[in-house]
Amino acid sequence: SKKNGRNCTTLFQDKMATEAAELLRLERDISSAMFQDEFFFVLQPIVSSQTKKLVTAEALIRWKRGDIIVPPDQFIPFLEESSLIIDVGERMLNKVCALLSDLKHRGVLPDGFKIAVNISGKQLAEKTFITKVTEVLRKHQIAGHYLEFEITESVALDNLKNTIYKINDLKKIGISFSLDDFGTGYSSLSHLKDLPVDKLKIDRSFVNDITIDKQDENLVRSIIQLSTNLGLITVAEGVETEQQVNWLEANGSELLQGYYFSRPIDAPEFVKTYFNPPPV
Ligand code: C2E
Ligand code: CA
Ligand code: CA
Ligand code: CA
Repeated sequence: SKKNGRNCTTLFQDKMATEAAELLRLERDISSAMFQDEFFFVLQPIVSSQTKKLVTAEALIRWKRGDIIVPPDQFIPFLEESSLIIDVGERMLNKVCALLSDLKHRGVLPDGFKIAVNISGKQLAEKTFITKVTEVLRKHQIAGHYLEFEITESVALDNLKNTIYKINDLKKIGISFSLDDFGTGYSSLSHLKDLPVDKLKIDRSFVNDITIDKQDENLVRSIIQLSTNLGLITVAEGVETEQQVNWLEANGSELLQGYYFSRPIDAPEFVKTYFNPPPV
């Protein structure tokens, strides 16, 4: 009826108004979050499938908004849209390097260890990106080989020539690269061949069902083969069960990341757990 129709419209307008207000609040809160330095990172270990020992860790951003910790899905899209991600990303990199520097000075930074940082397309596209990275490393007196940059397919393929040039320049100072969320984007295999990345991370949506869905199992097996044939190290993310661990080890995924080993934890806890085992 007409009446119902109007109610619907009103509800719809209410919803839009609420969403607009919500967005406005988010916008205001994010500006203050930047000002008050409310962003920090947690670390998730990435282990060898053979030894189950720590190899690297991924830094994942969090926002301490009052008493709650906000996960990135709720604010990264907004930061991306508004280009604030450039500033926030640079601060993340600074914080990660500050931790590395601190560990180095305490003499507990293992030689082959790296922290992987997620780099947004907007960061990588910036003309000054390489200069900024070099500057951050210099400031904290940290060698590039302690860092890895995780980029996604969409980022990498946006401006392929330029991306390749930048990756190669950063590799010269020791920074390694991994291609994140592999399989979820629109990458063509020929582009993958041209990208000078070191690792390929299989998205957790594929890893999820490898031990229960034959198609997913075949798909992940093919991705690992492809990755290996291209000379890349394969990382499986979202590993949650022992069956997945066994399958991935048997099928040649060199590195594993997921709740089965550890959830992302804050830096002090990470250091205590992995670098500073308490005396027995
Ligand atoms: P991502 O790069 O694919 O990161 C992996 C995500 O999977 C993380 O979610 C991690 O907590 C989650 N995860 C790890 N193991 C498991 C598991 O076993 N099961 C399940 N269900 N999930 C697992 P998180 O921390 O919420 O991050 C979400 C996304 O936000 C990241 O996805 C990344 O795209 C983005 N992000 C995080 N930190 C940054 C950052 O500093 N800069 C940028 N640009 N993006 C970031
Ligand atoms: Ca990542
Ligand atoms: Ca990923
Ligand atoms: Ca993801």
